[in-house]
Amino acid sequence: MRYISTRGNAPAQAFCDILLGGLAPDGGLYLPESYPPVSRAELDAWRGLSYADLAFAILSKFIDDIPAADLQALVAKTYTPEVYCHTRNGGKAAEITPLTRLDDGLYTQELSNGPTLAFKDMAMQLLGNLFEYVLDKRGESINILGATSGDTGSAAEYAMRGKHNVKVFMLSPEGKMSAFQRAQMYSLPDGNIFNVAVTGMFDDAQDIVKAVSNDANFKARYKIGAVNSINWARVAAQIVYYFQGYFLATKSNDEEVAFAVPSGNFGNICAGHIARMMGLPIARLVLATNENDVLDEFFRTGVYRPRTAAETSVTSSPSMDISKASNFERFVFDLVGRDPAVVRELWAKVERGEAFDLSATPHWAKMPEFGFVSGKSSHADRIKTIRYAHGRYGVMLDTHTADGLKVALENRRPGVPMVVLETAQPAKFEETIREALGQEPVRPADLAGIESLPQRVVVMAPDVEAVKRFIVERV
Ligand SMILES: *Cc1c(COP(=O)(O)O)cnc(C)c1O
Repeated sequence: MRYISTRGNAPAQAFCDILLGGLAPDGGLYLPESYPPVSRAELDAWRGLSYADLAFAILSKFIDDIPAADLQALVAKTYTPEVYCHTRNGGKAAEITPLTRLDDGLYTQELSNGPTLAFKDMAMQLLGNLFEYVLDKRGESINILGATSGDTGSAAEYAMRGKHNVKVFMLSPEGKMSAFQRAQMYSLPDGNIFNVAVTGMFDDAQDIVKAVSNDANFKARYKIGAVNSINWARVAAQIVYYFQGYFLATKSNDEEVAFAVPSGNFGNICAGHIARMMGLPIARLVLATNENDVLDEFFRTGVYRPRTAAETSVTSSPSMDISKASNFERFVFDLVGRDPAVVRELWAKVERGEAFDLSATPHWAKMPEFGFVSGKSSHADRIKTIRYAHGRYGVMLDTHTADGLKVALENRRPGVPMVVLETAQPAKFEETIREALGQEPVRPADLAGIESLPQRVVVMAPDVEAVKRFIVERV
């Protein structure tokens, strides 16, 4: 399996060669040169496999440059009930992503049972093991530099903690995360994890990461890397739970299922799109956004209009507060018949800060083949949906999953089970849960009181040179 760039001007590469990098050298995103089809016989054989065995069967189709026995071992040590232990609602830990029945034909699929209680752990935990394996083989090392406002940074730290040849430098805005989020990140005792709290906003932290990464000499000399959401291995790992959700929601492979996906950077639902292209019987992919509705607008109108920072709202489902969706280019590549010249033209506009409009093109006429529908949810909808789910189904949902359920309920069809992907646990968003339900969210027992553990964090002014010095002294 070779990987090609959506912009068509980069050499095709093997999986391990794109694992540690981000964008292709031509600015595009990597995708497999074709999607491996899944036959009916394979689907039948896969129904009933454990999550780890299913992950091995699927990932083997995308990864052919790691010996099968090694890949199997990496997957087996990633997808265990010990790693994904934070189940609730009666889900079985051995299923890794168990379904919770809300109503006839309506489910949530728990993707947030990992160490940081958000779905990013599903892929990031595998990434940690893949990085360690490939770096060991190659005798290389990497220093991951990132900025976080919460979920991504903690998922990266919990995936990379204690890994050989990997250090993580994570910048966060001082005092802007919740006490729980701070405790999650800053209480990690591992010597390869470095937390830096920048006295500024998230954007200041992000700008420092960009400045350091744009210094090509520094980047090469100190082996600076990233684990952002465009990383292909993260998308690949996410394909697995769509298959698992399908098997858990159906009795036979003749049935179809719809998935509702709370979306921001389009990474999660991109994996659903690929599962569907491989032949998983997905009737529809229901995309849900919050007030930041750039993706909902596209799927309704054909116009993709990235927003400026000033047009991006801070919402109570903060992990979906995006102005442009970094993985969206992968879908558009497929929509335009995998013609890289069209993608280059469209993203030239995006990079100039302009919108593009596909509504009058032959590409738009192809949209129905891809099974997407979309909708959006506001703060008021979120509060209403959290109350509704609690009262009617007896479950406590987080704010992002509530956005997904709101749009799912608008798009149900008789006879087609609807699976709402649960992307985080309510414990991460205490303030909104209190507003909706007047009570504290449930928190997994082993995380009780983490706020009182000792914390390791260095506070620093938003100064690029100071951050560089900090890294140089520790690598
Ligand atoms: C990251 C995240 C999302 C958005 O996922 P994308 O892959 O960026 O679309 C939704 N919900 C939660 C809780 C997240 O952490």
